[in-house]
Amino acid sequence: MPATKDTAPARAAGKPAAKPVAKQTTPVQKTIESKLAKLGLRTDMDLVLHLPMRYEDETEIVPIREACLRGGHVSQVEGIVTKNEITYKPRKQLLVSIADETSDIQLRFMNFYGSQVKQLAEGTRVRARGEVRHGFFGAEMVHPVYKVVNEGAPLPNSLTPVYPAGEGLSQTVLRRAIADAMKRVDWTDTVPRAVREQLSLAEFQPAVRLLHYPPPDVDENALIEKTHPAWTRVKFDELLAQQLSLKRAQNARREKGAPQLTTVGTLSSAFLEALPFKLTRAQARVVEEISKDLREGYPMQRLLQGDVGSGKTVVAALAAAQAIDSGYQAALMAPTEILAEQHFRKIAAWMEPLGVKVAWLTGSLKKKEKQAASDMAESGEANLVIGTHALIQDTVQFAKLGLVLVDEQHRFGVGQRLTLRNKGSDGLVPHQLMMSATPIPRTLAMTYYADLEVSVIDELPPGRTPIVTRAIDQNRRDEVIERVHAAALEGRQVYWVCPLIEESEALQLQTATDTFETLAASLPDLVVGLVHGRMKPAEKQVIMDAFSRGEVHVLVATTVIEVGVDVPNASLMVIEHAERFGLSQLHQLRGRVGRGQAASVCLLLYQSPLGQVAKQRLMTMRETTDGFEIARRDLEIRGPGEFLGARQSGEAMLRFANLETDQWIVEQARDVAAWLLGSDRAEAEAVVDAHLLRWLGGREEFLKV
Ligand code: ADP
Ligand code: MG
Repeated sequence: MPATKDTAPARAAGKPAAKPVAKQTTPVQKTIESKLAKLGLRTDMDLVLHLPMRYEDETEIVPIREACLRGGHVSQVEGIVTKNEITYKPRKQLLVSIADETSDIQLRFMNFYGSQVKQLAEGTRVRARGEVRHGFFGAEMVHPVYKVVNEGAPLPNSLTPVYPAGEGLSQTVLRRAIADAMKRVDWTDTVPRAVREQLSLAEFQPAVRLLHYPPPDVDENALIEKTHPAWTRVKFDELLAQQLSLKRAQNARREKGAPQLTTVGTLSSAFLEALPFKLTRAQARVVEEISKDLREGYPMQRLLQGDVGSGKTVVAALAAAQAIDSGYQAALMAPTEILAEQHFRKIAAWMEPLGVKVAWLTGSLKKKEKQAASDMAESGEANLVIGTHALIQDTVQFAKLGLVLVDEQHRFGVGQRLTLRNKGSDGLVPHQLMMSATPIPRTLAMTYYADLEVSVIDELPPGRTPIVTRAIDQNRRDEVIERVHAAALEGRQVYWVCPLIEESEALQLQTATDTFETLAASLPDLVVGLVHGRMKPAEKQVIMDAFSRGEVHVLVATTVIEVGVDVPNASLMVIEHAERFGLSQLHQLRGRVGRGQAASVCLLLYQSPLGQVAKQRLMTMRETTDGFEIARRDLEIRGPGEFLGARQSGEAMLRFANLETDQWIVEQARDVAAWLLGSDRAEAEAVVDAHLLRWLGGREEFLKV
């Protein structure tokens, strides 16, 4: 083991980029490299920081007799093959017995190769590891891990790591790649000695080495629970990197120029006056927060969170009004045509009477119309441009873009948001307001997005009746159809959401069509409509319009209606195979009802038997309609990585630390980050560079947006 060097940041910081994995040449190595890359393991340091999820103890051999007595435990034994036979009853299998001085045990293989039969010939010495069971013919191991050894072959002197692996990557290959990387990597400790001493932190190299190769006498529980001091060090490093990048990104943003949108003028006040309702207290508060940011000379980057139906659109429109009042343009981008069009209609209806010119730009427009919309943006004739991804195309330019609004921002990739933000002029970066109804717990939002202010609308407009949610077994479908019928006769409208079939879009479409046909047949006196993702936008719009006008009673839909659709008269929702949906998706879907005055109902049809997780989800849905509570439980069920998805966070930033249980480490990391960045010594900056390079590699840029 090379000695751990103390902080020598100048050396580490001098490097321009993370060192790639040493040159590999053979085709086999190439495939391994690409498989490693799929796991995000590109550099030696990536490999070194790919830490085990658990360990196997191969450090001792237990006498066979003792292993048999222990029973039900995983043990490693060694013996000479005394019997090797293939039996055919009840099915073909290979039975091998091994014996040591104390006893013998049978190894049973249900799947095996001819070569294994030869390899395990009588008289061979075998080391086998597996769970000992007591079968009809005495003690046995089924499909043990085994190898042929010479007498006295050495045992490993540390626990054997088991790594998170990807498809086609064996533990052996991973272990070797990591062991090789450990020899090459630069072990410089990026945390200054003074900090380590003050916080009693372990040194970097010994900590990481221990996690890969723990000595047999280690406190294994502490390893598994991630409470071992070696884990604390790794978590600290990870959190420090996060805090550093957060603060740096904030500083960098404050150095950029943005148009100062200082006028809250005639448009804003006329708009507020014309609204058919009063803002809720929460809306008024976030409008004020946003308004204040927009006056600043550096770009706002704010996430507006609010549960479905909390009224984010008005808030966005008011922000746009401030931009327009100040002589700038605003752009609003939504992830689907349906949603964009809905915004367009609503906002145009609010604002055009007040003299605002609103342009509409989506991919489905005819070339000429697109050109016209794009010209309006470029000439400045349009004050507000609303659309889909089409807004971010190179050909679309803005005369004076002051504010970018992104609805359902989690539906967009980081790159897409960045492109729109780059459409400012005169070297100024437009302000950005992102909206999301997928409520991300505040701590998570702050730590996953490197640099983001958060505003929360934590109150629904008055007069909403709560949604009653029931879970119903699929085999009571007929009763449900009956209920749909009754509701429709009372003048209520119904959504019928088709099952999610992730593996096959074609199958999903098929199911939707089938459902539509059976429902239309069972409800001959009602108008049943169908909307799905494969329809042309214009076709979708026709159906959605008819539904909005109340001409369609029952709307059969795939998850295309998940976001944003707003039809207040719809008050019954049926979700088929609810067990296949995630919590936040269910919540989003359910949010389509409960928007009007009528008491709303959501029926979750499920296929029994339900798995544990599905049961938990449906129970949560029945118990609460509070999006934040649902998000919290979702996080609990799924863990933060999956919760956010790689798409949202660039790559999930926290792999080791847990924001709930490791809050104390977060605080330490925050203090140290502030101290390092506050110092104007060149060494401190070099420490920061080296630490960020090690932990974030090239990802830091990505996390800023
Ligand atoms: P979301 O936050 O899900 O985007 P919307 O902005 O679509 O919600 O608002 C949901 C509905 O509530 C819309 O019909 C909107 O006009 C209405 N609304 C918004 N704010 C208020 C308010 N303060 N009082 C009454 N209704 C409101
Ligand atoms: Mg919305």
